[in-house]
This record gives sequence, structure tokens and C-alpha cells, in this order.
Amino acid sequence: MKLRKTAAVAAMAAALALTATACGGKEGSAGDGAKAPGGADAPKAPKYAVAKDVKLDGSAGYKAAKSRGKLVIGAKADQPYLGFEDQSTKVRSGFDIEIATMIAADLGFSPDQIEWKTVNSDLRETTIAQGQVDYYVGTYSINDKRKKQIGFAGPYYKAGADLLIRQDETAIKDKTTVKGKKVCSIKGSTPLQEIKKPEYGASVVELGKYSDCVQQLLTKQVDAVTTDDAILKGYAAQNPTKLKVANNPFTTELYGVGLNKEDKVLRDAINESLTKHVKDGTYKKIYDATLGLSGSTFAEPPAVDKY
Ligand code: GLU
Repeated sequence: MKLRKTAAVAAMAAALALTATACGGKEGSAGDGAKAPGGADAPKAPKYAVAKDVKLDGSAGYKAAKSRGKLVIGAKADQPYLGFEDQSTKVRSGFDIEIATMIAADLGFSPDQIEWKTVNSDLRETTIAQGQVDYYVGTYSINDKRKKQIGFAGPYYKAGADLLIRQDETAIKDKTTVKGKKVCSIKGSTPLQEIKKPEYGASVVELGKYSDCVQQLLTKQVDAVTTDDAILKGYAAQNPTKLKVANNPFTTELYGVGLNKEDKVLRDAINESLTKHVKDGTYKKIYDATLGLSGSTFAEPPAVDKY
């Protein structure tokens, strides 16, 4: 009896370890770890049919990409399940990476014709406006201030700012309980602007990328990290015994694909790609293979805004 019990316990521990790996790599990592999310049994992202004979007359961005034979796409690299780069294989994965790859296929570019460029939150507008990327897919909220500098296709996802806290945290529950607490967020992000409002009374720590904030949370230098719930759930899934999400979102963040402000033709083409693949079920398959694995529940995305 004793022996059997031990075996059962061992089997359970092994199963748990497997689940933890499937949920996004090694526990304790802040999102810049070596392992890509997703275990062997996890649903796989679909393959996208690469369009032939694409004509986008009047799109300067498309013309430039075509003549260089490569599409340069801006993305995040430290957001598991969203925009992640495996440090050992250099393979990118996540919801945003798949959405970007799906759009590329509709524009006639295969995955090996994509050059990824990691761009963190604070440099997005400049990078896009200067033409250093053809488009950008990286948890990028559409707003009027950004629209003065760049254009947005989409939205393709609705998120909301939330709080990431340690598992043993009892004082912080939502935006009304961060008074006097050290809350970390990222330069150039909308949740940073939000949490800096005096009404919250938080002591705000500003860093360059989210994984740095998560590291500081794990080492108890800060009490919470704030940004979009979709991002935070990825870090919580990577550190299931150490971190959790408060689950009380307090803003609305509609994710768009950032691109050159003047390139309406490219914007329309990206909107068309998004609309088509929400309808044909590709979007849902992408979701299930990426964000769905970190505990975000599926919802139909908002309709694209054809401005
Ligand atoms: N969605 C927010 C933003 O665009 C936060 C996430 C991010 O920094 O990428 O600012």
C-alpha cells in the first residue's frame, strides 16, 4: 500500500511538472527564459496559405517590401503566449507572432520571408514612423495620441490593464488597493500612464521591458506589475506557484497593427486579412494555440475600424 501511494505521488508530481512546462517554460523565469510556451499536447497554430499575385497599388510599404523580397515586422520578444522569442532557437511564438505571420501570408510573404525586429513599447511610434518596420504587432493599443504619428489596422483583440502580484499577496486586490505600493510598468505603455494618475497613489517604477518588471516582482523589489491582463496571464502561467493576476481589469486596451500613417492601402489589406480569418476560424485556432494556453478565455474580437 505504502509503495503504491509513493508511486501515485511520484506520478502526480511528474504530471504536475509536465503541466508547468506546457504552460510556458521554467518556473521562476520572467519571460525572457530559454523555453517557448506550449507542451507536446498543446494545440498547434495553423499553417497559412501564402497568397499569389497580390496587387496593392498605391501602397508604398508593400512596394518597398516586395522589392527587398522581405517583410520587416516589429514585435515583442519577452511576452510569453503573445510575442516571445526562444533564446536558444531564436524561434518566435505567440498570438501576436501568429497574427503577424497570417497577415504576411495574405500579403504574399512566407514565414522565411519575414524579418522580425524586436521593438519595446517606448520605441514603437518612432520605429514605425521612420519606416524601420513594415508593420508592428505587439500588444499595441490603438489610441488617438498614437494615431497622430502612425496608422492602425484592427482592432484584433480586446485586453484591459490589470495587476500581477505574488501568490502570497493579500493587500493588493485591484486598482483601489495600490496606494503606497511599488507598482512597476513600462515606458511608453498606456498602463504606465494610467497607474501614474495621482488618484491611485502608487509609487511607480518605470522600466524598459515587462520581463524586467516581472523579475523585480519575483525578487520582491516591487509589489505589483501593471499592464494588460493578456500579458500578465502569460507571466503568471510561467510562474504558477509564485505569481497570480488580480483579475480586476481597469482599462480597455484594443490591440491594433501599427503601420505607416499614410498607407491606407496597406491598412485596408491588413483589415481585410483580419476580418477574413476571424470569419473562417483561423483566428480562433491561433487563439487556442497561443493565448488560450495561458488562461485567457476566448471572445470574438471587436470589428475592425475602417477609418
Ligand atoms: N497595450 C498597452 C500599450 O500598448 C500595454 C502593452 C504594451 O506596452 O505593449 O501600451
